[in-house]
Amino acid sequence: MLLYRGFNIGLLRNDTGQVLKYGGFYDDKFSGEATAYLPYTQNDTLALPAKLRVTYTGAFPIYTDTLNSFDFKGLIAFNGKTVRAAEQSKWYPVIYDVKNDRELLEVTYDIEVTCKDCQTIYINGSAPQAGPSGKFHSTIPRQLLLFAGNYVVQALPNSTFLNADLSADEAAVFNENIGSIINFYRFYLQVPYGEKITFMQHRSVEPFGPKRSWGFVTFPTIAVAGKPFKSEIDTQKRLFKNIYSYYFYSHELGHYYYGQSAPANSTLKWFFLESMAEFLSIKAAENKYGKEATQKYIAERKPLMKDWKVKPLSQISSPNQIGDGYRYTYAPMILLAMEKNFGSKTVQRFCRNILQNAGQRTDYPFLVKMVKSAGVNDKDWKAFEATVMEQTECNKIFDHLP
Ligand SMILES: [Zn+2]
Repeated sequence: MLLYRGFNIGLLRNDTGQVLKYGGFYDDKFSGEATAYLPYTQNDTLALPAKLRVTYTGAFPIYTDTLNSFDFKGLIAFNGKTVRAAEQSKWYPVIYDVKNDRELLEVTYDIEVTCKDCQTIYINGSAPQAGPSGKFHSTIPRQLLLFAGNYVVQALPNSTFLNADLSADEAAVFNENIGSIINFYRFYLQVPYGEKITFMQHRSVEPFGPKRSWGFVTFPTIAVAGKPFKSEIDTQKRLFKNIYSYYFYSHELGHYYYGQSAPANSTLKWFFLESMAEFLSIKAAENKYGKEATQKYIAERKPLMKDWKVKPLSQISSPNQIGDGYRYTYAPMILLAMEKNFGSKTVQRFCRNILQNAGQRTDYPFLVKMVKSAGVNDKDWKAFEATVMEQTECNKIFDHLP
């Protein structure tokens, strides 16, 4: 079991209430922000009991200013107005699968939260509730993000805003734009959008803004600090002030499909998670702003990739061989090249097929299978592999883009 390093355990008990012995209190092993506590009997790590009961307590500094030298998703942050604790901090006990080295962050829940001086309490995946206490329930496994304190809730058809202080008109424009993305995805993928997104604005405990902002996602919550949602909206044009906002939210919304509906794993995990979401965002923006938007998107990335070299997807043997630049910048270009070569309908079918085959190993043979089932014949695919897929020099891709 993993628990935030700032907590102290009272007791660890099994389903019959029996107190368990556990290691980790002395000479502990850290795992990120958490300490690993391992229940044991005699000399063996205990197999997980059906129920585990744990009591723990902790106290935290309250930063009413932004003097702290850092803030990040793994910090439990009190700023005098709100408390923010994301799954990464492990503010709730996270079961750690020792054998497979896996953190089980996503859980169904039935949880009561009490916060004496909180106006609003929110747990990721449930509707926010008025304080000082609320019961939250989810049959969909979620990563738990807690956001509680004194802030207002604005609930609209496509989205809920926490602590956002948007005017009614700004909220409507934001909601319209989010709605246009969701509508496009429903049409493009032919799968209903099964989430209502919560947009959360919070004040970090280190200085973000006015020029520096910070966003994180604990799906279906998108959180920002430093740049208020308000500042992104142009109520005259009824658009985001900057198309980058449209790409950003489209990408994050795309993770409902690639991430949630179709989880990614295996060697091409980052391709099927991030590159697919990024590709969707390109299509969404193209739908809203026209083909020139895609031209501009490509042109802006060209100089970045000038000297990049990559390992072809067919040769990737472990997920982390696909670094940030590869997954967010280069691999989406491969999908655009596929589109130019095989047609947009074919790539649309490829995208849908991935969702229909969710749960399989997302490796290179899977990618090829999805391409072929989208209607690409062996000969055409071999030719495309030779010219694009097997290419190691990134700048060569521009010969194959629109
Ligand atoms: Zn992403």
